[in-house]
Amino acid sequence: MMKRVYHSLLPMLAMAMPLLPLQAQDAPASAEAEAALIPYAEFPYKLNVVYFLGSDREPIEGYEQRLSDLLLLGQEFYGLEMLRNGFGLRSFPLEQSSPEKVNILIYRAPKPASEYPYSQGGGSRAAAEVNAWLDAEEGRRKSQHTLIIFPTWYDEQYNDLNPGGVPFYGLGRTCCALDYKNFDIQHLGKDTPEGRLMTKWFGGMLHELGHGLNMPHNHASATETATLGTALMGAGNYTYGLKPTFMTKASCAILDVCELFACEAGQAFYTDKAKNLKIKDIKINFAEDVITLSADYQSNEVKSVICYVEDAPTGANLNYEAANFTEAFPRRDVDKDEPRVSFTMPWAEMPQLSKEDCLIRVRFLMTDGSYKEEQIEFKRSQRGEVSIKKTKMSK
Ligand code: ZN
Repeated sequence: MMKRVYHSLLPMLAMAMPLLPLQAQDAPASAEAEAALIPYAEFPYKLNVVYFLGSDREPIEGYEQRLSDLLLLGQEFYGLEMLRNGFGLRSFPLEQSSPEKVNILIYRAPKPASEYPYSQGGGSRAAAEVNAWLDAEEGRRKSQHTLIIFPTWYDEQYNDLNPGGVPFYGLGRTCCALDYKNFDIQHLGKDTPEGRLMTKWFGGMLHELGHGLNMPHNHASATETATLGTALMGAGNYTYGLKPTFMTKASCAILDVCELFACEAGQAFYTDKAKNLKIKDIKINFAEDVITLSADYQSNEVKSVICYVEDAPTGANLNYEAANFTEAFPRRDVDKDEPRVSFTMPWAEMPQLSKEDCLIRVRFLMTDGSYKEEQIEFKRSQRGEVSIKKTKMSK
């Protein structure tokens, strides 16, 4: 069943490829075939997938195969987007008992499902319990990244036709999604009530998983909107399956240094390498139709630099509109033997920005997945050159 659906999704994937250079234009068919064979299971870290049962609940019928089909399709989508963005065919590995089946751990909570609601800290309580449980037995935890799936509530408001009630968001490296009876790959991509529900909840699962894999919100550029559709970490949770949906280069640069995407064991992640990064100078020039920015820094371990341009203020749920410009594997300045990056950011690529007060966040992504950000606030009417040396945020 899964293979059949892969093929029905191929036209959508093909629509997502026109920006590739000529050499790679044959990629959809061969990449899809290759993606089906890629031994992600041999990667050293695996996503922890946990089915969360309140003490009064049982799993929804068929959950193992339904969720396996969907997780493997999501894995393929992430892999092909990494490839298209130049980071190679890599995706989040899953523990599997067969090529078609993902090992989904069952967690039985001590309290009834109603104790873990969407709001009032329900997700944080569930995440704390699950993470403690993953650590309680050696070998149970497969990485620092966890996807928790809750069966929908059944009450006067929620049911299989209107799933919900449960946590559905990212919480650091843990994220929450939900399951219901028709959460089934056979409905994906269909313009039916079941199909539209799949886009909302499966697109939603892939979006929340993105948060759990370190990705913040961001927006497609004008060119991307015209050619690739909606960014998954923008409003892609409302389009995936029904309309072209893609991942930005900024999102993939973050996955490039995510623990789960490591092909080989031995490297430590999230060790705060960013702490020692020295950013020497950031120069910005605001011209009529373009912002140019350049930065010098001292470190051999910066893997990518991302410039986010967004309306002020910024914050976890205030940055859906963030335009993004990414320089992966920054080059070295041969004369000074120091790395530097430069960006040219046309306003025409950011029509979604509407406010007079804007800001730029320059994120330096280290090889261990940690980052340092510099934040520059400005007014759209600003003209001329500005030099900034102040560091705002590190994580
Ligand atoms: Zn989000």
